[in-house]
Amino acid sequence: STTAPGYYRVVMLGSEGVGKSALATQFMTSEYIGAFDICSGDLDDEMIVSVQLDGEESTDILDNLNVDAYVVVHSINDRDTYESSVDTIHRLRNDIGSDRVIIMVANKVDLVRKRVVTSEEAKKVAERYDCKFTETSAALNHRIDELLVGIIRQIRLKLNPV
Ligand code: GDP
Repeated sequence: STTAPGYYRVVMLGSEGVGKSALATQFMTSEYIGAFDICSGDLDDEMIVSVQLDGEESTDILDNLNVDAYVVVHSINDRDTYESSVDTIHRLRNDIGSDRVIIMVANKVDLVRKRVVTSEEAKKVAERYDCKFTETSAALNHRIDELLVGIIRQIRLKLNPV
């Protein structure tokens, strides 16, 4: 892996349009971003990803070994994106057998009246697959810092279990 020491490698997965770029943009403005190397990928062609390291674009071979955490994003106004996240999480845990940190993110919680995916059902899935669950609005910068802190906390807990 080309990841600089002290960096955590976080891979964001999720259907097109759920807000991965918007979340990444919000991450960049956070005081915690120094600790992260964030790539956005697709589970089906995840093996080569484009990453930013020290401001330079490079490609890197990505496998489960050099990923610290997966952030799997759906948007609460689109059930297909939720089903896709459930499928992705299932494949990560069962097919790939990953024991890495997985955070399930329900984004676009500002779209209250367009919500079609409940918090409860997403939470249940997260519990079943031993994932943390967070709701965010990238548009309103709502709970983005909490998400970043949660990712760091989960990675550290996995590295140094108490
Ligand atoms: P990506 O394909 O997963 O990278 O999704 P984008 O970040 O490009 O976002 C897709 C669209 O959803 C854009 O028009 C964003 O402005 C919008 N979007 C992203 N996050 C939010 C959010 O939290 N709330 C709302 N209302 N729109 C959002």
